[in-house]
Amino acid sequence: MLGIEVGFNWSLIFIFAYVAWTLATAYLPDAAPGHGVVVYWVAAAIGAALFYGSLLAHELSHAVVARSHGVKVAGITLWLFGGVSRLEGEPTSARSEALIAGVGPLTSFAVAVVARSTSCPRFRSTGEGCSARSSGGAPAAGSAGCTTRSGWAEFSPT
Ligand SMILES: [Zn+2]
Repeated sequence: MLGIEVGFNWSLIFIFAYVAWTLATAYLPDAAPGHGVVVYWVAAAIGAALFYGSLLAHELSHAVVARSHGVKVAGITLWLFGGVSRLEGEPTSARSEALIAGVGPLTSFAVAVVARSTSCPRFRSTGEGCSARSSGGAPAAGSAGCTTRSGWAEFSPT
């Protein structure tokens, strides 16, 4: 992706299952009551996929900034606790290093803001009787963004 090799560790399946399970059984029935079990699970799967999308965006931002500062990027691996960007070589200045490190949390924050501003208000305004996607998917997207912002992605060492 963007010329950067992206790898997935098998341990991802556990977190995917955990995120989907939490959304389907606890978060969504609470946030959007009155829907069927299948609706919650479909929405939860979408939410879990968005969660990984936001992790990937976080790591890609590190990698892209690193590359633009002349640091070779071997690739990105997503695993149990988030993502790891494998950089080859050191940033040439403290400023480059700070930018490479800082862009990840900024990206996660931006993803969270977008997820909340595009999804949550629409969900609230449509209220009762809305479709599975707008009722379940929206809080799922919001929660994926919030989860990321609250620091999951920063388990990453880079
Ligand atoms: Zn990071």
